[in-house]
Amino acid sequence: MNSAEWKAGLHHLKHPLWPLTKLCILLYLTSPYETWEELLQALPPELSVDETIYEDPASKLTHVHMNTQWLGLLRQGSGGNGLPVVINEGNDTLDMFSTVLCLLKQQVMEAELETVNSLFCASMKCALCCKGPEPDAVQEFFEIPLQPQELSLFAFQPIETPFQGGFDACSADIFQIDERPFHLLPPAVYHWRHGYSLILTKGASCPHLTGNMRCNIYEKRPNVCRKPQIFAYVLEQQPDKPHVSLERDTLLAITDCPYVRLLEKELERYAVLNEVTLMLKPNKA
Ligand code: SF4
Repeated sequence: MNSAEWKAGLHHLKHPLWPLTKLCILLYLTSPYETWEELLQALPPELSVDETIYEDPASKLTHVHMNTQWLGLLRQGSGGNGLPVVINEGNDTLDMFSTVLCLLKQQVMEAELETVNSLFCASMKCALCCKGPEPDAVQEFFEIPLQPQELSLFAFQPIETPFQGGFDACSADIFQIDERPFHLLPPAVYHWRHGYSLILTKGASCPHLTGNMRCNIYEKRPNVCRKPQIFAYVLEQQPDKPHVSLERDTLLAITDCPYVRLLEKELERYAVLNEVTLMLKPNKA
């Protein structure tokens, strides 16, 4: 594997943005610089963090995806009004500093991994996430959760279901249309109680997948398609509590994906540098 996209993906994994971002956040909070931008301008041309050398750190951090208003709240020590709440597994609310770090880490890693995934998918010409399970798979269907504003990307009229049990379709296998389980019917969008999902049945493909394994709505593709196989799972949003997240501090990587299997060592190191735990798991059975 030697394409430019593959090399660029590897470079991202070896130079994760979060350790650099965190160092600069700590500098910012203890420095006399009035704004984040002022701090960036004062950075040297090269910075070393945990043996990783970052060239032109100011330019990297200028483009980093994070909410600097949260940094401002920390700087002012304004008590955290307006901040989302982060809890730990013991149900304790994290202090403001830890909360902001968790929120920013999720944002920074999420954006970085969106780029990384796209680079590796492209270099392997892989469209596994855009297809239903293979005909001989145990899993009956593959679900693509959609946000309401994404429904217009698809020509399907959502099928209403009486299912009341949860957001996803996995426990809805009793749902039938014309006495046939829904997952034996052609691909369609279903409306469960808590959301919508495109169901790709065995052997089916997303209608937007082209013959050369490209997405024909790539720039506008649904949010879930932007983080297909390596996820930042620093925080888990709590069902029915949009402003509360559980601290997970995990990097999830789906082993169905051919590049995840090839990159296990690199992902382990990436996880260590980001101070998260790598969790490898299969998706389609
Ligand atoms: S919308 Fe595009 S990226 Fe998402 S499943 Fe369909 S083809 Fe794949």
